[in-house]
Amino acid sequence: MIKIPNYLKIHFRKGLYSLIFSVTGRCNSRCMMCYYWQTMDESNEEKELNLDEIGHIAKRLGNLFVLFLTGGETTLRGDLPEICSIFQKECCISSIFLPTNGLNPDLTVQTIKTISQLCPKTSISVLLPLEGGRELNDSIRGVNGAFERVLESVKKLNELKISYPTISVAVNTVISNKNIKSFPSLRDYVFNELNVDMHNFSPVRGLPRNNEVQPPDFKEWTRLCSEMEKYYRGYLERRRSSKRKKFFVTNTWRHHNKLVGGILRNNRHPFKCLAGERIAVLEWDGGVRLCELTPVVGNVRNMDYDLLEVLRSYEALKQKTNINGCACTHSCFLNASLPYYPLNFMRSYLP
Ligand code: SF4
Ligand code: SF4
Repeated sequence: MIKIPNYLKIHFRKGLYSLIFSVTGRCNSRCMMCYYWQTMDESNEEKELNLDEIGHIAKRLGNLFVLFLTGGETTLRGDLPEICSIFQKECCISSIFLPTNGLNPDLTVQTIKTISQLCPKTSISVLLPLEGGRELNDSIRGVNGAFERVLESVKKLNELKISYPTISVAVNTVISNKNIKSFPSLRDYVFNELNVDMHNFSPVRGLPRNNEVQPPDFKEWTRLCSEMEKYYRGYLERRRSSKRKKFFVTNTWRHHNKLVGGILRNNRHPFKCLAGERIAVLEWDGGVRLCELTPVVGNVRNMDYDLLEVLRSYEALKQKTNINGCACTHSCFLNASLPYYPLNFMRSYLP
């Protein structure tokens, strides 16, 4: 009998596949492309969900496949390891994606180490931002010395992952008109000098703090992706992925980039986004959104910490019916929705 892997099973069962949890609104960066800046400026530590509350939420959620932790700056929450442990225990998550701005290398490493100790069976992908060379990076991120501090965090995390093989370390770059021209030199530098597991990139989205920041156009994006492919394969080689895995993941990576290109060109999603059905956003103060760019539909604090109930509320249903008309390039939402569109899903595995 054919055994269906858990990854596929969870894709096709009802309920949420993944959750984006913005653990705090606080941040020590002031990035010009940040679309979260208004929420960040209103953030208040005292209003953040505490561990008891997070425990109630996780208990009612059921199993999830992936937990995306986000912020603000994730490591500013001192109890981040305990948060991961709660979701690991209550929701049986297989993977945690953890972006951090890496501005405090010692805190970053200590936090990731403790998470790995508390969740030894969960894969932990740490994502660190680099937007260009020293000067450009620091001006985009609004912090002097950010480039050097990220390099130090990468170095320390690379050392840590020798003892904790569930950790992977990737660089993330947000592509905009501010850095697209210099991306090739950053791409080469990251690949040749940093020994990371992957270099991810995505177009800027939402309404950035600095309104001069614009996403790339279709042509620029397509060229960038096609030039990046040999590096992507290089990262897979480095990870000693099997031939079969390399074949399939390169195809899905290419297909994903094509979908993003199509959205940049047509300003239309290739299929209905399943925000609020397969993936949703929990804010630091208990607010729930269908996605990061849509307004809050309710608060778990008013619904006995039942996030799924908030997603079934009248306000959530109203927003879900309007989703058809909107478009953005957010990978998490594209990936969570894709399996429900069989032709697109199957095509994503083919060359
Ligand atoms: S993009 Fe992230 S790191 Fe930068 S200011 Fe916004 S929340 Fe902070
Ligand atoms: S397409 Fe983008 S903006 Fe629209 S609901 Fe999905 S994630 Fe949100």
